Amino acid sequence: MRDGIGMARRFGMQSGIIGVAAAAVVSLAVAGTLAFGNFGSASQAEAEGVGAKAKRVAPVAPVDSSIGHASDRPGRSLNITIDDGPDPVWTPKVLDVLKKYNVKAVFCMIGPQAEAHPDLVKKVVAAGHKLCDHTISHNTGMDHQPESYQSQQILDAQKMIEDAAGGAQVEYYRAPGGAFTPYSRQLAAKQGMRPLGWNVDSKDFEGGTVERIKATVRGELPKGPTILFHDGGGDRSRTVDALDGLLPWLQQQGYGFGFPKR
Ligand SMILES: [Zn+2]
Repeated sequence: MRDGIGMARRFGMQSGIIGVAAAAVVSLAVAGTLAFGNFGSASQAEAEGVGAKAKRVAPVAPVDSSIGHASDRPGRSLNITIDDGPDPVWTPKVLDVLKKYNVKAVFCMIGPQAEAHPDLVKKVVAAGHKLCDHTISHNTGMDHQPESYQSQQILDAQKMIEDAAGGAQVEYYRAPGGAFTPYSRQLAAKQGMRPLGWNVDSKDFEGGTVERIKATVRGELPKGPTILFHDGGGDRSRTVDALDGLLPWLQQQGYGFGFPKR
């Protein structure tokens, strides 16, 4: 209440308006108390359900349904994208190396893994990274499946990731293996998720050495700004080491890091 009046004073409001503002603050406080009372009397599961609904980011604006690669950061910019997590062993290590160089990335998550590790999803969001829907089953042949299957894969994963994140928006959709269809792109876009491609595949998934991964990325930079790495699907120690070498090198080359344009 004191804050409300203080704010009114800072904005130079008339005394009559201060009264209105103070009344509004009081009614908000009452509403807050009532809501709190509801949480208190509900069962834990119900409370969580109500909480998730209340925090859910409300109606999302549709985005472009074409497959995006560009960076939202002007100049010499890259977008780091990290797929197939979250993973309790590797995601924290990837987060540490991104933090070390103050780089923000997009994490393309598998729905059930997000549901199993909500702490990791929240950590990703808290560190300033963005979320991407990478489906339920990671079926790289989903472009040959019926629309009902595609829609279940995309929408259920979006909800799992959002719920795990405590309501943060899932801003991108990346089809497993790039298996987009016009239908899945339009569905994702309508849900506020920009279809997200990649320009440079680090091939960290293919079992090469750390040096090989770094050389692949360095050699393919002219292809475009969006680079693909993985924090799930097996031992990702080479991904962590490759990022630890590549990020400072890229910064020395004058690159900055943005997010894919939505
Ligand atoms: Zn993947």
